[in-house]
Amino acid sequence: MGDTLFGKIIRREIPADIVYEDADVLAFRDIAPQAPVHVLFIPKKPIATLNDVPDTDAALIGKLVMAAVCWAKSQGFADTGYRLVTNCNQDGGQTVFHIHLHLLAGRQMHWPPG
Ligand code: AMP
Repeated sequence: MGDTLFGKIIRREIPADIVYEDADVLAFRDIAPQAPVHVLFIPKKPIATLNDVPDTDAALIGKLVMAAVCWAKSQGFADTGYRLVTNCNQDGGQTVFHIHLHLLAGRQMHWPPG
């Protein structure tokens, strides 16, 4: 896949407000937050969309989710709640083609989403 701006954030070529990092995962605040807390959890490995995750990377997706859950717990809002969202391709509203989980928290979420 081609490089994306998230690849540049991973390589520290452009700035980001990084809140969490481990060997496989990076998390940083969304530049256009849609909730009081809006953080993006991305794998360091560039994968364009959920459709492109190979079976061999199933554990990586698990790590991504668990990193978000652990961070939510560490920040103290896990019990009041939060939302994890992944957009896929055009109809899903994906604009950056490096998979990411949106973690949204700090307000009441609505359903269905727009
Ligand atoms: P999506 O539309 O699901 O692909 O999500 C991409 C997200 O990346 C959007 O919520 C954008 O606001 C966010 N975004 C774009 N550029 C940056 C950036 N430089 N730093 C942090 N977040 C960004």
